[in-house]
Amino acid sequence: MKITFTGTCARDYSPLLQTVYKDCLDKDARRSSGALIDGHIQIDCGHHTLDSLRIQNIPQSDIDMIFLTHLHDDHYNPDSIRSIAAAADRRLKVYAQAAAVPELTQALEGANAEIIGLTLLEKVQIGEDAYVSALPANHTRFPAHYLFEIGGKKLYYATDGAWIMYDALYYLWGQNVDMIVFDATCGDYEGDFRVAEHNSIRMIRSMCRSLKKLNVYKKDALLYLSHIAPSLHKSHEETVEKAQKSKLLVAYDGLEVEI
Ligand SMILES: [Zn+2]
Ligand SMILES: [Zn+2]
Repeated sequence: MKITFTGTCARDYSPLLQTVYKDCLDKDARRSSGALIDGHIQIDCGHHTLDSLRIQNIPQSDIDMIFLTHLHDDHYNPDSIRSIAAAADRRLKVYAQAAAVPELTQALEGANAEIIGLTLLEKVQIGEDAYVSALPANHTRFPAHYLFEIGGKKLYYATDGAWIMYDALYYLWGQNVDMIVFDATCGDYEGDFRVAEHNSIRMIRSMCRSLKKLNVYKKDALLYLSHIAPSLHKSHEETVEKAQKSKLLVAYDGLEVEI
């Protein structure tokens, strides 16, 4: 499974994206968070996803599935989804948790897209040797975290959301995933309101001790931080330095990971 980060920012983007970084990626000028799996499965499609695909020379027509983690506008932009839907003859599949379907149906009316509602805690097949489970998350606007199982590899994509819900933990117990992407909005900062629905590095570190013990992830799994708020972090390099003490990795826009 190949994961390409199309964006790694929380909602507080750098104004430099309008000027200096309009046509390039930068580790300190992150775009709206999302990732692309195996070149055709897009997770989230927010403010900057189309820009990021353009800069990375990824054709919109290659994408045949979009998974929405929730409907906040940094993850969900109906016009961008319409653009991807119109980019090829195939019918684009847009997945989200079932409760989001009425709103999506209205917003994407007339687009060449099929909207598929997922029941939380149920595994569904999305292709040959490809499965996904939508898991509950502590966040707003119809949240879902996703466990992808493709070609024998497992990715748990867990942003946005603070901590882990008990039923998600029980579902993941013993799964031995190869990679996790965590919401790391708050960094090392303490005292911010966003902690109610996003993680700090300290929370992730503490969570990982339990996840490791319960074999949620493999010994050599890749544990990435994403959805990083520039207002609560310093530079990318400083976040890398802080994270590596706990064997956590820090994603950046354009990063490609093979598991
Ligand atoms: Zn977000
Ligand atoms: Zn959100």
